[in-house]
Amino acid sequence: MTARSVNKIDIQRRASEEALKERELQLMELNATKDKFFNIVAHDLKNPFTSLLGSSELLYHNIGNLETENIRELALILNDSAKSGYAILQNLLDWSRSQTGLLKINPERVNLRNLIHENISTLQLAATNKEILILNEVKEDFFVFSDKNMINTILRNLLSNAVKYTYNSGQVRVSTTITTDEAIVSVKDTGIGIPANIIEKLFKIESRNSIPGTENEQGTGLGLKLSKEFVEKLGGRIWVESIENKGSEFRFSIPITEG
Ligand code: ADP
Repeated sequence: MTARSVNKIDIQRRASEEALKERELQLMELNATKDKFFNIVAHDLKNPFTSLLGSSELLYHNIGNLETENIRELALILNDSAKSGYAILQNLLDWSRSQTGLLKINPERVNLRNLIHENISTLQLAATNKEILILNEVKEDFFVFSDKNMINTILRNLLSNAVKYTYNSGQVRVSTTITTDEAIVSVKDTGIGIPANIIEKLFKIESRNSIPGTENEQGTGLGLKLSKEFVEKLGGRIWVESIENKGSEFRFSIPITEG
């Protein structure tokens, strides 16, 4: 073996060692992110369960002595907690499917106005309780060719945030614009807004930013990360503009492709 070929083997070995080291680092980071994620979810599920256990127990032991109005209040707490737990589970399932590669993109013709309407309907009770007006300004025949479930997850998260972080008597407006190659969906609210130093962290899994809503609604700190993941899987981008105490506008794009 010549000195030159020994040298070549040496260089190759060093290169593959470096590649291995880099891969190991990536795996460690991924694992740390996953641990962090499970911590977040386990912690978040505690809130709705504490509330479910407390109020159901109260109801069970005292139902004979309670006024109808008190029973109604407890039922509302039970319903809110169940909904909040369910929303966390929905996000958790979506996230784990996306991480394990089980989530396949399944594009179809999606009527955006209808999908937005369905999401508004599920939020209507929460919005009415806060006297928030939700406007769907999307044209009736606005279609995109994309994955309906993923778009639904994004809309569900942006819209529930908009209601959650908007004061009583505020407004949430959903609209769309179209460019030559993308449809842009905007969810704009008149809520509490987001400080500039928080904005850059919102979409990153490593940073935990969850603050309660204006009526102390609890969150998961997961919705925007999941939304970003899905928007990007569909070939789009997501961004936000916000002014503290004035409101926020979240926008995401969906590439226009032939259906
Ligand atoms: P969650 O809302 O469950 O906490 P998200 O990932 O959906 O988690 O949002 C992360 C954080 O971003 C929220 O806790 C909140 O501080 C901020 N945020 C998101 N949407 C809005 C909004 N429309 N107005 C004000 N703050 C928002």
